[in-house]
Amino acid sequence: MDDDKIGWVPIEGRNCAGCTACCTFAPIRVPELKKPANATCLHCAEGQGCTVYQVRPQVCRGFYCGYFFLEELGPNWHPEQSGVVIRSEAMENDTITILILRFSEFLVSEDFAGMVGAWVDAGIGVEFERVGPEGHLPAKMRINELLEDAVVARDLREMQKVFAWSVAYIDQTHTWERDETVFESALV
Ligand code: SF4
Ligand code: SF4
Repeated sequence: MDDDKIGWVPIEGRNCAGCTACCTFAPIRVPELKKPANATCLHCAEGQGCTVYQVRPQVCRGFYCGYFFLEELGPNWHPEQSGVVIRSEAMENDTITILILRFSEFLVSEDFAGMVGAWVDAGIGVEFERVGPEGHLPAKMRINELLEDAVVARDLREMQKVFAWSVAYIDQTHTWERDETVFESALV
């Protein structure tokens, strides 16, 4: 990653460490590269990462997930370990969007519940997001109101039930919209 994301300074020492999640979940629609949401970029090779690293578009150079900016997130929040990505695009709107890529033990950890509870307590909006089927746009829902009672009672178990219910609700009720973007690349 580079240090050229405008307006944000990544925390020193944080890095992608083999994660390529945003080369899959993020849609890209710039002149030199187009790819649909939740579809792996043609230039992302397993175990190798970006094969056009030197000429990758600015949108890739400047993208950092929230792990790079939030001091309060420990190493176990790294997307590769946790299976969750904090969407930095939404952080400026007093909302934290947590993209849940896969189920992991981290989702039922005290660390996860404690941090989400602290954000809710602080009046920060918290959204859960899911990617849905390949090539489809993501879906998200705000969970603050669902969590309020459990957060006030500091009831981690009840919070975890809300997490599980929210993820299932998105997965089972959302009508996923296909991203009509077609893969296209001028990069070599
Ligand atoms: S999701 Fe975060 S850690 Fe993973 S590749 Fe993207 S910026 Fe790096
Ligand atoms: S061009 Fe490279 S950095 Fe950008 S999405 Fe594709 S593989 Fe990832």
